[in-house]
Amino acid sequence: MEKKKCKQCGKSFEAKRSDSLYCSNTCKQQAHHKRATEKSPSPNKDQEMTVFYLDEYQNLNWENFDIITFCFLRRNLKGNVSQDEINHYINAVVWDDTDWRVKYDTIRRTKAFADFQERFLSGEIQVLSKKEIESEA
Ligand SMILES: [Zn+2]
Repeated sequence: MEKKKCKQCGKSFEAKRSDSLYCSNTCKQQAHHKRATEKSPSPNKDQEMTVFYLDEYQNLNWENFDIITFCFLRRNLKGNVSQDEINHYINAVVWDDTDWRVKYDTIRRTKAFADFQERFLSGEIQVLSKKEIESEA
């Protein structure tokens, strides 16, 4: 038998098999659980952005860019980011194509977009001007 160090608790143990990584089933399960939760954190709706700045959208100054599409992309950046970061991000996502409309339409055909649009239209997503947000706080 081979002496090994448990990958979960760090104790040394007698490995019955050369490919054993853990000292016990408990440690094996704990490690597996840890990996699973790290890989797919349960979605937390409270952390998702539901309020957006109208100003950020207006400052994009790109014609034909739908406000729902803007919010849909903007939510990936989360929280306080500069206008430059927003412009760069959207530029990178949409405008790296020869014909940006192809990419724009592709985004709008996804299931994620359809779900977001539904929430937007139901009033769950709000777009407010900076003034309105500051007066609410
Ligand atoms: Zn262990």
